[in-house]
Amino acid sequence: MSNSVEPVLDAKHVSRRYGQGANAFSALNNVSLAVTSGEILALMGPSGSGKSTLLYILAGLDDPTDGTVTLAGTRWTTLSGKDRARFRRQSSGFIAQGMTLLPQATAAENVEVPLLLEGIARAERMRRVEKALDEVGLAGLAASLTDELSGGEQQRVAIARALVLEPRLVLADEPTGSLDAQTAQVIARLLVAAAAKTGAAVVLVTHDPAIAQHADRIITLNSGVLA
Ligand code: ADP
Repeated sequence: MSNSVEPVLDAKHVSRRYGQGANAFSALNNVSLAVTSGEILALMGPSGSGKSTLLYILAGLDDPTDGTVTLAGTRWTTLSGKDRARFRRQSSGFIAQGMTLLPQATAAENVEVPLLLEGIARAERMRRVEKALDEVGLAGLAASLTDELSGGEQQRVAIARALVLEPRLVLADEPTGSLDAQTAQVIARLLVAAAAKTGAAVVLVTHDPAIAQHADRIITLNSGVLA
């Protein structure tokens, strides 16, 4: 397993092409990056520069055409099917921009999902859900239906769900993109603080410099190439 010297996430010479022949399009070109334990990395760049493509590849949700991605000492591309799904659940948390929560389930039930998939016993699930919701300031709203929560509260639930298994890495795709500027700041601060508690590294995609300032390091993609 990796230690504090080794990067948690190590992407080497990652390229992603879509299509074939004359229609081939290179969305990512020879991108290499490493993220260490507890580091907050902001990934910026104009629309269409390849940010989502890179984030999905880092998350093991898509495979690069060339290159390798290693997370906590394991190469994504050597895993397939159920093994990859399990590894992804245990080692990384994903926070999307829009609604990826179950709207008719409570905040607590949403945070419980990764624990259920891991087969964790009920008493332990309840303990961890309570702790995760407490850490994002939602202890009092555990029993609220998700679609009755505000946008900011829903993103707090998404953060709690992403962190409940204490993954080494959290990937966030414009997690504040649908929030007003003030709420976005609160949520960005909360994400950074929650990750710091578990020592998780964070890769945060944002087009907003006011959000990127919460990161330890900012990298920029332009037409699929790291600046
Ligand atoms: P960003 O997140 O920075 O806005 P994306 O990663 O979504 O950029 O997209 C990068 C480029 O790759 C864009 O030009 C987009 O049109 C292209 N692209 C993304 N997904 C596909 C796909 N499935 N097929 C073809 N082209 C794609």
